[in-house]
Amino acid sequence: MQLKGKTAIVTGSNSGIGLGIARELARAGADVVLNSFTDRDEDHALAQEIADAHGVGARYIAADLSDGDAARGLIEAAGRCDILVNNAGIQHVAPIDEFPAAKWEAIIAINLTSAFHTTAAALPMMRKAGWGRVINIASAHGLTASPYKGAYVAAKHGIVGFTKVTALETAREPITANAICPGYVLTPLVEAQIPDTMQKYGMDREEVIEKVMLERQPSKEFATTEQLGGTAVFLCSDAAAQITGTTISVDGGWTAL
Ligand code: NAD
Repeated sequence: MQLKGKTAIVTGSNSGIGLGIARELARAGADVVLNSFTDRDEDHALAQEIADAHGVGARYIAADLSDGDAARGLIEAAGRCDILVNNAGIQHVAPIDEFPAAKWEAIIAINLTSAFHTTAAALPMMRKAGWGRVINIASAHGLTASPYKGAYVAAKHGIVGFTKVTALETAREPITANAICPGYVLTPLVEAQIPDTMQKYGMDREEVIEKVMLERQPSKEFATTEQLGGTAVFLCSDAAAQITGTTISVDGGWTAL
C-alpha cells in the first residue's frame, strides 16, 4: 500500500469532506487521526470503523480548533504527522453590514488560523521523518467570491496564500503544501445553507440546488467526498512530489467560467 507507515491527521473529519478524505487515505494504507470538537462515542466509533475496514491504525482525537493551543495540542497528541489535512471549516451567510462579528471571528479562527497552528506544530515532525504533505482544503471561494460570504471568502483566500508560504518555506525539503479547491459538495455544511437560501430566494429545495448552488458549477453535478479523498491521495503520491504551492480545483469547471 502506497501510504503504509504514514500517519495522516485530518482536521474536522467526523463528517463530510474530512471523513471522505480520511477514508481514502486509510484505503491507501495510511494510519489516520480523525478530529472534531465533540467527544462522543460515535466519533470514536468512526475511527474504529475505518480501522476495521482498511486494516490501519485509526484514532479520534477531540480538539476545538477555534482555539490555537488546542489546534497545536491535536498534533502533539497524535505524536506523529506525515500528512496534515487542514479541512475543518464552518460557514455563515449574511451581508457585510449585518454579518455578526462573532461569526466573522469564528470563521477566521477555524477556517484559517487553525491551519497556521497545526502546520507550525506538524512541520517539525515532517522534517524529523524526512517527508511530509500539507493539504489545505480551501474552496472555489479561495479563488473567486460570492456575495454574503465575506468571512468565508476572506478565510479561503487567506488559506490559499498561506499554502504558498508553506510551500516556499519547505521548497528544498521533501515536503509539499497544496490547496484543494472544491466546488459544491453535498455535505452537512452545504445542507445547512439550503433552508436559508430557500427563504431568501423563495425557492424550493430542488430549485436552490439547481439554480443557486450548481448555477456556477458547469458540470451541474456536486463533487463527491470520494473524489476529494482521491485528490488528496494523489497529492501524497510520488507523482505529485514536485507539485507544491498550488491549488487543484475539483469544481466541475466553476473557476473556468
Ligand atoms: P462539514 O460540516 O460536513 O464538516 C466540517 C467539519 O469541521 C466537521 O467535522 C466539523 O465537526 C468540523 N468542525 C467545525 N468546527 C470545528 C471546530 N471548532 N473544531 C474542530 N472541528 C470543527 O462540512 P464540509 O462541507 O465537509 O466542509 C469541510 C471543508 O471543506 C471546509 O473547510 C469547507 O469550507 C470546505 N469546502 C466545502 C465545500 C462544500 O461544498 N461542502 C466546498 C468547498 C470547500
